[in-house]
Amino acid sequence: MNFPSLQFSENLATHKILKNSVRIANKFLETVHLKAVFSETFQLDPNVSTERTQNVVIHFQKQSKKSYREQGLAFSWSHRYKRAKAIYVNNTFKKRLNILQKSTDDELNAKKEIKTITVYISFLLLHELAHLLLRWKGILDTPTDIDEAGECLEVALFGGQLRGVFTPNKPWSQNSKFIYIAIEKLKRHGSELYYLSFEDYIEKVYDWPQNTSGFVRLQFCGKPSQKEIIVLKQSDEVVQSETEEGPNQLNVVRRLFNIDVNPCGTKFFRSPKAYCRSE
Ligand SMILES: [Zn+2]
Repeated sequence: MNFPSLQFSENLATHKILKNSVRIANKFLETVHLKAVFSETFQLDPNVSTERTQNVVIHFQKQSKKSYREQGLAFSWSHRYKRAKAIYVNNTFKKRLNILQKSTDDELNAKKEIKTITVYISFLLLHELAHLLLRWKGILDTPTDIDEAGECLEVALFGGQLRGVFTPNKPWSQNSKFIYIAIEKLKRHGSELYYLSFEDYIEKVYDWPQNTSGFVRLQFCGKPSQKEIIVLKQSDEVVQSETEEGPNQLNVVRRLFNIDVNPCGTKFFRSPKAYCRSE
């Protein structure tokens, strides 16, 4: 694959956690999966994309009430114009991290959650970068053949769309505990959530970012034992939750790709195997 590895600049991320997320996102940007999307599906100019990606500034920011009214909850966002050069990550993550960093009673779980959030933010950066890359080409809205640029990247890497899984089951805030990163895959009858294993995937991605081979070898675990969970997508006005007796499926599926079809037109599309472990 001739397309270069696009890379964010760590020094343009304005918080320590964001720098860590940049470090991880940059490793995903080295994978053939993303290079294939950038060159074949998005048909990007490598020079322009390389230079602009290096100049992206990454901040935590509070979501405005207006944006919340118009589009619902957003974990991250970027401006919809051609010269946009910043990615904003919802400030609620920063508040949550502050709580976790101060927590003394359950240090191990706090560390685990900090790593989960850090890795999840790196996925948000990739999602937003997908939008920026097309905007820099003058395409402000994702073309219909790509559908949703950020989700296209998620499908190329993970075979489905990313979801954040929180507990307890009430509106997302700094008090919500981030328990899993999940991948929602469309099945013949509805969709199904696959939970990324912390020990076998997230922590490895976090701790050994020099080794990219493990980045695309997904490892899953069983569904959460908690009853009151909330499953949110990157930008979501519909709060979806599992009921106690409900199946591991979501009723509302919007813009989900059929995973048997290659939605992004990339040769490297893959559907990862599920490894189930009981915990
Ligand atoms: Zn998006």
